[in-house]
Amino acid sequence: MKSGINRRRLGKTGLYVTELSFGAMNLRLMNFIEESYELLDYVLDQGINLIDTARTYNGENKQGQMVESEVLVGNAIRRRTDLKEPIVIITKGHGYVPEDYKTDLFESLSKLGVEGKGSLKIGGNDIKLVYFFHGLNDTRWKTMKESGVLDLAQESKKEGLINYIGFSSHYANAAEIKEALDTGIFDVAELPYNIFNRSLGEDGAINLLEYAYNKDVGIVNMKAFNGTIMVPIYKMLKDMISIDYPTMLNFCLSNPFISTVDAGAKSVEEFRQDIETALGNRLSIREIEKYKSEADVIAADMDGICRECMHCLEKFSCPQGVDFPGVLSLYSRYTVGEKLNKDTSELFKLYTDKGLRVEDCIECGLCLEWCEYKLDIPDMLKKARDIFETV
Ligand code: SF4
Ligand code: SF4
Repeated sequence: MKSGINRRRLGKTGLYVTELSFGAMNLRLMNFIEESYELLDYVLDQGINLIDTARTYNGENKQGQMVESEVLVGNAIRRRTDLKEPIVIITKGHGYVPEDYKTDLFESLSKLGVEGKGSLKIGGNDIKLVYFFHGLNDTRWKTMKESGVLDLAQESKKEGLINYIGFSSHYANAAEIKEALDTGIFDVAELPYNIFNRSLGEDGAINLLEYAYNKDVGIVNMKAFNGTIMVPIYKMLKDMISIDYPTMLNFCLSNPFISTVDAGAKSVEEFRQDIETALGNRLSIREIEKYKSEADVIAADMDGICRECMHCLEKFSCPQGVDFPGVLSLYSRYTVGEKLNKDTSELFKLYTDKGLRVEDCIECGLCLEWCEYKLDIPDMLKKARDIFETV
């Protein structure tokens, strides 16, 4: 195993993790299960010692097999006999009240194949388990504070079922993130930050990355690429700027308050490029300022667009059967394309070919809490209908 990647302290866990880590969310998007194992083996071969998964990172792969990220991660670690150090695993659950917390936690332990208490193992390999509350937002945080689930999480840490406690959250929840950091309960937090959206970092009312760092909470940086599958939108925007994927990653790696940047590669080749960036030099202050200025030119065009991240579908589907992320993604590509005077005719064909319809939306608003970018989904659906269904 190689170990050339620099390590940083993961806050008060005291663990030293590779500054590039692996996000296992996209394992479900790969063609074959074997490809997922090949990628996980590559990650471990490179000496990466933090893997980030979640209870809900499940889905059907291209062969129609149900894929569970936790199962793949657990199996990949179990079959290794050459790991020289404990792998740090983050997994996340949606249990914001004690009963749901217990159900999700035990399900995750079982899917990962974690054994023991305190000194946790998967197969013959030691691991460190950081258990996260997934997607902390205003309503979930209120529930967590009132339900007693935070006490339960601390008990499971004392009992040794998990080693550390963390949470993930998103841009719209700065106030809740600060409050959660202030509790002193959390060892690690996973937050979005990238060159296009620095609102939880230096552009926020409070630099929460720095705030967490000063409280010794380890920061896992997600969304370094500003939304995992935002390729169609990015393709439309990238001829306006010189910021490529390695630059986006290097920008995050250059932030001293971040413990590790979580890259969710979908192939060995993609992760090989991420490794190359991680092994290279960090950006200078001058380069950082230059790229920030460039990013700010197009940042406004990225507001209010669907990133096609599909997080909204992890635990929710529209009761009326509306494929709202499908509609929103085409609507977003359309609005950006029109601003840039690009040909958008292909999007109309895609809308028809995918059989997308908005008419069943009753504007109940149930989907709103599941969009991590806080998009006004019912409103965007109406606008999409006016564009795509009136031709
Ligand atoms: S607002 Fe429309 S798309 Fe959203 S859950 Fe309700 S019916 Fe479905
Ligand atoms: S609707 Fe929101 S959560 Fe769903 S894919 Fe779009 S940006 Fe992501």
